[in-house]
Amino acid sequence: MKKLLSKILPASAKAFHTISAKQYKLLGKILSAVKSIITNLSMQDKKIDDLQKSQKILSEEISTSNKILFEQQNKKIETMQQDIKNLKKELQTQNDLLAKQSNDFFNQQVSKIDDLTVIINNLNEIIPKIPQRTYNKSAKRIKELEKIFLRLQKQPRLAYFVLNIVSHCNLKCKGCDHFAPIAEEHFVPLQTIESDLQQMSQLTAGAVTRIGIMGGEPLLHPNLLEILQSARKAFPNTLLQCTTNGVLLLQQSEEFWQTCKNNNIHICVTKYPINLDFESMEKIALQKGVNYSYYHTTATVLKTSRKIIMDIDGTQNPKRSFYNCFHANTLPLLMYGKLYPCTVAPNAATIFNKKFSTNMLLENGDFLDIYKCTDSNDILTFLHTPKPFCRYCKTTERIHGITWEQSKQNISEWT
Ligand code: SF4
Repeated sequence: MKKLLSKILPASAKAFHTISAKQYKLLGKILSAVKSIITNLSMQDKKIDDLQKSQKILSEEISTSNKILFEQQNKKIETMQQDIKNLKKELQTQNDLLAKQSNDFFNQQVSKIDDLTVIINNLNEIIPKIPQRTYNKSAKRIKELEKIFLRLQKQPRLAYFVLNIVSHCNLKCKGCDHFAPIAEEHFVPLQTIESDLQQMSQLTAGAVTRIGIMGGEPLLHPNLLEILQSARKAFPNTLLQCTTNGVLLLQQSEEFWQTCKNNNIHICVTKYPINLDFESMEKIALQKGVNYSYYHTTATVLKTSRKIIMDIDGTQNPKRSFYNCFHANTLPLLMYGKLYPCTVAPNAATIFNKKFSTNMLLENGDFLDIYKCTDSNDILTFLHTPKPFCRYCKTTERIHGITWEQSKQNISEWT
């Protein structure tokens, strides 16, 4: 367009003198329009130039950033390849180590088997030379140790506990391991018993196989019926045994028998060699629909006594005493919110000490505060380990199978 005008305008200048004023005016307008077009065209050209420039810059920038990105990606890929290489190396090292360890273990086992084979061969040579008596004695001891080992294993659940509700007794057997013959009259309050039963039920989720309700003589307790009801309420599925000497059984009220029947309480009579009408007891229990049995083997074998020997100075090895104790991990006792490992420790530390002015100390480790436990695991762990109080028990010198007789309340009955 510019070129065209540059050609036209000089030619038009020649004819300039011949044009009229009107033509001149028109020509002026045309020229001004042409000028504006030229201006616009130059602006457009400039914009196009600018655009081309920015496009160039942009494409340069894109190419630079692409290059950077590419380099970064490359670097990442390289790092990952290195990591994979390292991992492979580490895996290989671990594999080698495992192979070595399993090889070592195998060799050790083989060597142990070799050693055992030598021992067995030696034993095979030695055993026939051992005198039969020594052999029998060792075999017996091994069996005893097996029994102790089994008894002292942590129980999977609580099999039994004694609910001690009365301290004193109306029969007073010599050598009683509850020390009832020398106890003053004492009843554990009903409220305490109810609360303890509830707590034990919560801790064990009611999963206790058997509870022995006893004392002293349980039939002496003025709130016995409420206690039996509470026990059943707290332990709906447990065997509840009220263990009595039977002296007061035939005097029990209709309400007593009904309570036993309604709460499925087992009456367990210890058949002492005393003049009691056991036949009538069996009959009445049968009539009332109450479960009735005799303690241990006393239905057929006369009840004998045992002598629980105390070491008042506490010089025994507690572990040794515990391992040889038939109470251990078997006959725990619940009284006043505390669970004791046996019937001996709590009663010796109170009743015996008071009667004979001794000072056998009950320490914290000797009992478990059931209100500080979280679950039955605390109880089971507590029960299968020796206690400090065991140092007062000469368990290896206990005497069993003594003819039953009443206590004369002498200290020698327990020392
Ligand atoms: S104090 Fe120990 S050894 Fe003595 S009766 Fe209790 S558990 Fe057995």
